[in-house]
Amino acid sequence: MAFADPLTIALSKGRIFKETLPLLAHAGIAALEDPETSRKLILATNQANVKLIIVRASDVPTYVQYGAADLGVAGKDVLLEHGGEGLYEPLDLGIARCRLMVAGLPPRVTADAAVAAPSPRAGEGRGEWDQSRGSARPRIATKYVKCAERHFAAKGQQVEVIKLYGSMELAPLVGLADGIVDLVESGNTLKANGLVPLEHIADISSRLVVNKAAWKMKHASVMALLTALRAAVRERQAAQDQSQAIREESPPFRTFPGPFSIQ
Ligand code: ATP
Ligand code: MG
Repeated sequence: MAFADPLTIALSKGRIFKETLPLLAHAGIAALEDPETSRKLILATNQANVKLIIVRASDVPTYVQYGAADLGVAGKDVLLEHGGEGLYEPLDLGIARCRLMVAGLPPRVTADAAVAAPSPRAGEGRGEWDQSRGSARPRIATKYVKCAERHFAAKGQQVEVIKLYGSMELAPLVGLADGIVDLVESGNTLKANGLVPLEHIADISSRLVVNKAAWKMKHASVMALLTALRAAVRERQAAQDQSQAIREESPPFRTFPGPFSIQ
């Protein structure tokens, strides 16, 4: 496949780059350098007209919105927070899947803590957060300020959102916040810090985003890439479904009622 128009694709290092690379390979695009070892932020590919730029995950929509990149791959979390102005979001790539959740200390632990050290505002509030946390206006630490505000506003709950840039799990442990809004994959990070998932906000995966002007001006090239990526996603999904079906057909062991089985 050859691309008639010059295309710049914005990606972030780490899991998005690693998981997008095999999808790009289906479109005949291969990076000539590895961003983990190279210090370069503009990477050439085997396609003369296609280059990759390496940006912070949360900056991908901004680069694409302003046309500094024609396309990009961004987590739905980042897109929800950005708002998506100036972008089309034509394809769910099905990679970097996780959930955006509210998490906090288990209710019993906070209840005990509240008894040990009652908050001056205890008992003033209403709703589950108020009852379990003993605070009229619980504090929520997150890097997803807009998502958190929207979530609690939709539930009619008053919270104070505190912006953090990382290590969100620490905030409830040191009394900075009553809860957090963060991404959860296996739940192991929460568990390791004695936190539990409390409320589901959104299912997250990475999306292909396209600058609206590039969609029009470079239509043939953008469509060629989109079509190839769509086929790659479908193929990947089919392979996953098949291995899932095989796993379900052959359980690791079977139990037969033996001579001593009790009916
Ligand atoms: P930075 O480290 O630059 O602040 P970041 O932490 O958002 O950025 P990554 O950890 O690479 O960067 O996350 C990039 C995207 O991958 C996120 O926006 C999200 O969509 C997805 N993601 C993050 N954590 C997980 C996870 N544990 N499991 C699956 N996907 C995840
Ligand atoms: Mg991270």
